[in-house]
Amino acid sequence: MTNGTTPGTVFLVGAGPGDPGLLTLRGGELLVTCDAIVYDALANPALLALAEATDREQAVELYDVGKRGGSSESARQESINDLLVRLAREGKRVVRLKGGDPFVFGRGSEEAEALAREGLRFEVVPGVTAGIAAPAYAGIPVTHRGVATSVTFVTGHEDPAKDSAGVDWSALARAGGTIVLYMGVKTLPRISDALVAGGMPPTTPAAAVQWGSYPRQRTVTATVATLSEAIEREGITAPVITVIGPVVSLRETIAWFDRRPLFGKTIVVTRARSQSATLSGRLAALGAEIVEMPATRIEPIESPAIAESIQRLSAYGWVIFTSRNAVVLFWRALRDAGRDARALSGAKIAAIGPATAEALLEIGIATDLSPERFIAEALLDALRDRGDVRGARILYATAEGAREVLPDGLTEIGASVDRIHLYRSVANSEGADELRRRVAAGVDLVTFTSASSVSAFSDALGREAAANVRGASIGPITSSAARAAGIDVVIEAGESTIPGLVAAIVDHFAKDESA
Ligand code: SAH
Repeated sequence: MTNGTTPGTVFLVGAGPGDPGLLTLRGGELLVTCDAIVYDALANPALLALAEATDREQAVELYDVGKRGGSSESARQESINDLLVRLAREGKRVVRLKGGDPFVFGRGSEEAEALAREGLRFEVVPGVTAGIAAPAYAGIPVTHRGVATSVTFVTGHEDPAKDSAGVDWSALARAGGTIVLYMGVKTLPRISDALVAGGMPPTTPAAAVQWGSYPRQRTVTATVATLSEAIEREGITAPVITVIGPVVSLRETIAWFDRRPLFGKTIVVTRARSQSATLSGRLAALGAEIVEMPATRIEPIESPAIAESIQRLSAYGWVIFTSRNAVVLFWRALRDAGRDARALSGAKIAAIGPATAEALLEIGIATDLSPERFIAEALLDALRDRGDVRGARILYATAEGAREVLPDGLTEIGASVDRIHLYRSVANSEGADELRRRVAAGVDLVTFTSASSVSAFSDALGREAAANVRGASIGPITSSAARAAGIDVVIEAGESTIPGLVAAIVDHFAKDESA
């Protein structure tokens, strides 16, 4: 090119129906390597967050072209085409992210035409289309042996009452396969009439699936004659996929998404962001909608005491770790000092619970002692029962603000305790407004995994609003902190671990259901 810039490439990428897990591998790879993303309303914001969270030299450019301004649909499409052409000419790798599949009622092919006209490079990354995925997530296969041998994807955009209608509804009525309708909530009454007038039995099963594959997915089933009424009654609005045909009856047997134990529950997760992935992930996998509100974040502490303790590691009879973070940060300090796991060879190692023990194993250190209940009191009891603690020098690796139960108790037994604070949990005010909004709108549960997560939640929300929620706590200490904050603790984990907390939550709602 004359200006020396090699033109870039536009990737027309299908985002899938909503569930971020339904993005293709190719799509995900492009999202984290592209220079710009042009997206519209039906692309899940979680996918943009994925692109933004990636480390890269230059921040990804985001263009929201989903808002319908005053301009006409065709003017809007024209300006999207122009934007894609401009970005490609600037030499950028551009992801044009479209809901579902870019070539199924997505106008992706019009954008490809515009790029082809300009001689610009483009690639197409197909996506999981809503017309297959939304029914599948509602337990409705679009074909089924002996029940439906064909499926028609059709837009409801064209009103059968108008002369311009390009769909032969009576032919579809006679074809006998499954009809999958996109964009047809408003026109459905006329479409149903046209199908019945064309010879479709009015008792033919039909379903509407709203927000397919999202935690807020809703499904109503009826017949082709009664579905519009049911949609109106249930207050179902776009985006909706409508399925018409005998396959809809299979939902009774093979519904799965909305039968998962936590489906329909909204749960706030207050763990620090760096640790929340497992808790949120497990709850989401069981069907819950997660409001991930990091109440605290981990801030490492640098202090000379840490380096000094590492220099005299051989003097300690015991080293005690109270969390996974403590292990990770201690290991970092150890490596910074040029040492490794062998530096701990002379000491016995205690961990407060299985996650901490696992973090130790990851750095090649097996734990000598871990209590049955994962709280400081239990660890103290276990240490007290041993003969090698009295008179020992003990290194206690923990967080700032940790309770004094262990060091006090150990000193009482006659040990000498050095304490190092490796990190502190800091309240994270970002997102507090969003949290307030979601909690005001109603959530089913708020999880607490430490006393500090309780105070951070209470601080972020204000005591009064915080006291209106129902809490799920990881253990007795956290429960009392939550109760002290006025929170109604309805769940306490039997085993104070993330899996223990998740199990208690599932139990709680299962009882609810059977009550
Ligand atoms: N290219 C998209 C369709 C775009 S047309 C695809 O392949 O899926 C927009 C219509 O798609 C909406 O009006 C609705 O009918 C449907 N749709 C998209 N996502 C949906 C979802 N998650 N649940 C239900 N319908 C959806």
